[in-house]
Amino acid sequence: MYECFHCGCRAVIWDFDFSFDDCGYEGDGIVHFCHCSNCGAEIEYRIPLDDEETEKEDEQDECVD
Ligand SMILES: [Zn+2]
Repeated sequence: MYECFHCGCRAVIWDFDFSFDDCGYEGDGIVHFCHCSNCGAEIEYRIPLDDEETEKEDEQDECVD
């Protein structure tokens, strides 16, 4: 178990995963839902997945002579 940010007890339990789409968030990513069995806090981890890296490609174009 993981340490709870709120109460400091190692009582955080993972519940389930959802995609950004399932939760109505914009973009692509994964959402991990956990809760603390000690204080009852609900924890949500949002991990964005960025497939598009067009900005870096644009920067490289500026270096071309
Ligand atoms: Zn807690």
